[in-house]
Amino acid sequence: MDSKQNISLWLKQKKDAMVEQLLTWCKINSGTFNQAGLNRMTDVIQEDFTVLGAKTERIKLSNYVQIDNNGNPAATELGALLSFVKRPEAPIQILLCGHMDTVYPADSSFQNVKFLDVNKINGPGVADMKGGLLVMLYALQAIEQFADVKNIGWRVMINPDEEIGSPASAEYIKKWAPNYHYGLAFEPSLTPDGVFAGQRKGSGNFTLVVHGKAAHVGRAFTNGKNALVGLAHLIEAINALNNQREGVTINIGYCHGGGALNMVPDLAIGKLNIRTQQLEDETWFNHTIEKILKNFRDQYDMQVEWHGSYSRSPKILDAKQLTLYHLLQKTAENMGIKATWQATGGCSDGNNLAAAGLPNVDTLGVRGGAIHSQEEFMLVDSLTERAELTAQLILNCKDISHANC
Ligand SMILES: [Zn+2]
Repeated sequence: MDSKQNISLWLKQKKDAMVEQLLTWCKINSGTFNQAGLNRMTDVIQEDFTVLGAKTERIKLSNYVQIDNNGNPAATELGALLSFVKRPEAPIQILLCGHMDTVYPADSSFQNVKFLDVNKINGPGVADMKGGLLVMLYALQAIEQFADVKNIGWRVMINPDEEIGSPASAEYIKKWAPNYHYGLAFEPSLTPDGVFAGQRKGSGNFTLVVHGKAAHVGRAFTNGKNALVGLAHLIEAINALNNQREGVTINIGYCHGGGALNMVPDLAIGKLNIRTQQLEDETWFNHTIEKILKNFRDQYDMQVEWHGSYSRSPKILDAKQLTLYHLLQKTAENMGIKATWQATGGCSDGNNLAAAGLPNVDTLGVRGGAIHSQEEFMLVDSLTERAELTAQLILNCKDISHANC
C-alpha cells in the first residue's frame, strides 16, 4: 500500500476516536470571553496535540479594547494563543489556522452535545470549529505517520479570539505569514454538502461617541444639546450609504444613551459593522465618514468621536489563490468528492492570511450548518473525509513547485 492508501485506511479507523474527542471538547464552554473555559480548552488541546511532537508555545495575547457605555475605552482579557511548530527548516512551509473560541458565552443555555441521528451531532462548536480542529489534528497525524514529510514543515496556530475578529491574534498571523508558502484554515463548509468559501468580504467595527449637553427639560430645555438626537442624525446619514457602492453594507447594530426622561441626554453611543468587497472600499468609507462627521459638527455644534478599525480585509480570489483552489479540486476529485466554492459575506482568518499574501483554503473543517445558533450541527462522516482531504492536499502541494502553491 502506498502512503495515500495508508492515510485513508488509518483515518477511517479513527472515526470513533475523533467523535469521542469532539464530544469532550464541545462540552467545555469556550466562549470568547470565558477565561476559565478557554484556559481549560487550551490545556486539553495542548495535551491532545502532543502526539504531533511539535515545539509548543502558549502565548499571552494583549487585551481587547472596546468603547463602553460611558464612551471610554475598556479592556477585556483574552485567552492564550497556541502555536505548534514542526520542521521549520524544511523547504515547504504551511501555516494551519484554527480557533478554539465559540460564540456561546459561559451562561448560554446552549451547552449540551447530542446526536440528532447516527451521522449528525448538535452542540456548541461542533462545526465552528472544534470539529475543524480535529480535522487538522488527524490530518497532521496521518501525514506524520505515513508520508515522507521531511520536506514539509508546518506551524499550527490556534487562537482564542477569532469570533470577535481576531483583534489580538491578527498580529501573529501577519508576523508569521511571510515565512509560509500557503495557509489552511478549518472553518466549517458553507453548506452541509461541503461547498467551500471562495471570495470573502472584509469587515470593520466602528463606534460613534456623541457628546451633547445635559439640561433640565423643564427649566432649561433650550440650553441642552441632545446627544441621542445627534446620534440619530448620524445614523441616518451613515445608513444612507447602503446601496451606494456595490458589495458594501453597513449595519448599525447597537445604540446606547439617555436615561432620565426629564434630562436632555449628553452622551450617546452607536456601533456599526461594515462589510467591504474591495480593498478600495475601506478608503472610500474612511473619506465619506470624515465628511459626514465634519458636516455634523458644523451643523449641530456637538462633538463626536469615531473609534474602530477594519479587522479583516476582503479575501480576493487572485491567480495565486485559484491555483490552490484548483489543486484542492483535483485532490478532492481523486477521492471521489466534488469540491466547489462560493463567495461569502462572512469573514475568517482566511481573510487575514490572504491580506498577508498567503494563498489559503479556509473551510477545510467539517461539513455542517446552522453555525452561531443553537441548531449548530456537524456531519460525522465529514470528520475523516475532511482529514483525508487535508492530508492529501498537503501531499499534493509537495508534488508541485512552491510557485504553484
Ligand atoms: Zn469559526
